[in-house]
Amino acid sequence: MRAELAGEIAALRRRGVTPGLAAVLVGDNPASHAYVQMKGRACDEAGLFHETLRLPAATPEDELVALVDRLNGDPRIHGILVQLPLPPQVDARRVLHRVDPRKDVDGFHPENVGKVAMGDPSGFRPATPYGVQQLLIRSGIETKGRHAVVVGRSLVVGRPMASLLLQDGPGGNATVTVCHSRTRDIGSVTRLADILIVAMGKPEFITGDMVKPGAVVIDVGVNRVDDPTHKKGYRLVGDVNFAEARAVAEAITPVPGGVGPMTITMLLHNTVQAARQWVPAA
Ligand code: NAP
Repeated sequence: MRAELAGEIAALRRRGVTPGLAAVLVGDNPASHAYVQMKGRACDEAGLFHETLRLPAATPEDELVALVDRLNGDPRIHGILVQLPLPPQVDARRVLHRVDPRKDVDGFHPENVGKVAMGDPSGFRPATPYGVQQLLIRSGIETKGRHAVVVGRSLVVGRPMASLLLQDGPGGNATVTVCHSRTRDIGSVTRLADILIVAMGKPEFITGDMVKPGAVVIDVGVNRVDDPTHKKGYRLVGDVNFAEARAVAEAITPVPGGVGPMTITMLLHNTVQAARQWVPAA
């Protein structure tokens, strides 16, 4: 997909538009810094223009809103990404809703949330669930008529994931169940899944006995767990116990290296989609 995108980006550049992405990073959350750095590197490799705006943790909300306004009006920027989480003095909703929907490559603006729920392809699909859907499609995993169980109902992953799986089209037409923290006896639900997609933020919560033999398991979770044997003092694990689930699943994504790189790819894809709107008519 990255190679396909590089071709599309080169074609856009020939027509006078270099897709541009601005990342807004507030504070010094180490994971957020790492994500933004990876996104910047991917932009460089693909030939996208990118800019990272780093602001101190104490930045007032109005200042952040003013920055978003400036980026909304910047012709070099086609996609705006506000890295979450934002510090507590900032109302994240107000900032995210301020992003011009045409530049909202994360798909968090209500206009895009609505379009995605309606199956309107002009809406930006949030990068993580969109990446999971592409991962399924491009791995030849049929979703049509199969039971997909999504664990997690966040606006970033679980809810849009369920919405994409429900749509009529490739990577859709599944029968979808969504679980969350109030779901009773969650294992009895996850064991029904032909396709199990987990986005909880709970390290290795899903054990082998919660997975139906032959299921496809997509692990969205990224959790740091202390590990003095690693040079950083921690290692990354998913929400699924990989070794146990792998023993029963037909296919499974690793953490790191599974959904994460797809998320970055889909962010680039959405930025290219955003830039296409600004290509002058031939
Ligand atoms: P979130 O906003 O914290 O949502 C977590 C969801 O899991 C909530 O809906 C919560 O239910 C549910 N949950 C928590 N504990 C549960 C339990 N014991 N049983 C059942 N459901 C439970 O997190 P998120 O933003 O969706 O992210 C989820 C994970 O994916 C995190 O590890 C995050 O780092 C990772 N992530 C990875 C990528 C990537 O690119 N790889 C991108 C985004 C997120 P309630 O709603 O009832 O509280």
